Amino acid sequence: MASDLEERFAGIASRLVPAQPYRDPDPDERRLAMAAMGHLVAPRRDWSTATAGLTRLGFAYTDDVDTSTGRRYAMYADQARNGQAWGVVLVDLSVPARLVVEVPHPNSDLRTERMGIQLFRLTPGSIVLMAGAHRKAGNGAADVAHNDRSLFSALAAATADRHLPQIQLHGFADHNLAGLDAVVSTGTRTATPAAVRLAEKLRQIGLTTCQSWENSRGRLEGIGNVQALAAVRAGSVFIHLELNWRIRRDNGLRAGAVEAVAAAEIAG
Ligand SMILES: [Zn+2]
Repeated sequence: MASDLEERFAGIASRLVPAQPYRDPDPDERRLAMAAMGHLVAPRRDWSTATAGLTRLGFAYTDDVDTSTGRRYAMYADQARNGQAWGVVLVDLSVPARLVVEVPHPNSDLRTERMGIQLFRLTPGSIVLMAGAHRKAGNGAADVAHNDRSLFSALAAATADRHLPQIQLHGFADHNLAGLDAVVSTGTRTATPAAVRLAEKLRQIGLTTCQSWENSRGRLEGIGNVQALAAVRAGSVFIHLELNWRIRRDNGLRAGAVEAVAAAEIAG
């Protein structure tokens, strides 16, 4: 498959609509997903078991070289049969897993799917999780950042259990938080060193940045985020980043913001 990875992701995201079908996994599917992700992120990956599990869940496996980095990746893309719409798991194969990049609201928080691939390219050892439905699908059940029964939540929880740091990418409308470019949150009222570093890096490139542990203005979506709660329970790092539309819509500003995220070294 020669098509560019970022364009492929953007293409997948662009087809998601509020009216599409969505369903949560049943308990067996959830267990199978968590086990498969555990095999993917283990220091010694067990490919065949992970791939067998995800294939049983309806994901199609492909692997290829990302022409922009020269690094090999594996992609598991849900075939969206049976109304499930469970999304995409993208795994960098060059080194063991170090960072999980989450895109929970594709085609709703516009351009976050492009940010996900841009960060993936800057961080060897990344895994990208992208939701497979518009957040309004399934009467809102497809808002995976606020649905702990979603397959996305199961996959993210498995990475939290392995203590992989997660960064979740969101957007907000400029008029919702006038004068702010970025909101960094841990999903709780407590700061973490990685979140503090990220806020510093964003300020260094000139973005007006709010940190949720000091200012309640930014507590839009970060509080009540189910991936954040699971990360707290597992004792692993979770960062919720929201960027306004002014930054996300502009290729240069967006690239600069993603470079700042990579420079914050959330992966350690
Ligand atoms: Zn969002």
